[in-house]
Amino acid sequence: MIKKGTKLYSILFNKCPRCHEGDFMVENNVFKLNKAFKMHENCSVCGLKYMIEPSFFYGAMYVNYGLTVALAIITFIISTVGFNLTLVQSFIPIVSVLIVTAPFTLRFSRIIWINLFVGFNPTKRGAKNE
Ligand SMILES: [Zn+2]
Repeated sequence: MIKKGTKLYSILFNKCPRCHEGDFMVENNVFKLNKAFKMHENCSVCGLKYMIEPSFFYGAMYVNYGLTVALAIITFIISTVGFNLTLVQSFIPIVSVLIVTAPFTLRFSRIIWINLFVGFNPTKRGAKNE
């Protein structure tokens, strides 16, 4: 099991990177596309301000790029080795996988990005921003 206190816990369970208690995104269901990318402004438990500085989450683009490339490579390997598709034929499964996983990679890239800057600190509970 993934334990509270690890960055993976915060990333996989949509939790605040500092206290691992409050929710990060408003909606837990990634398929409610109208709300899936809405974030809380602050953590409801420890008060951490998620938008650390203006346009902080532009950096998540790089994480998203990395996730997308990794998925494309994995899909390419599966479609060429597993299904004997040619390079051109493998474009269809690659594009399909990237479209289907786009909501996940967008959400994960944001929460991974903030986890690069904010560490687990349960003692901050109840404290307001600093
Ligand atoms: Zn928190």
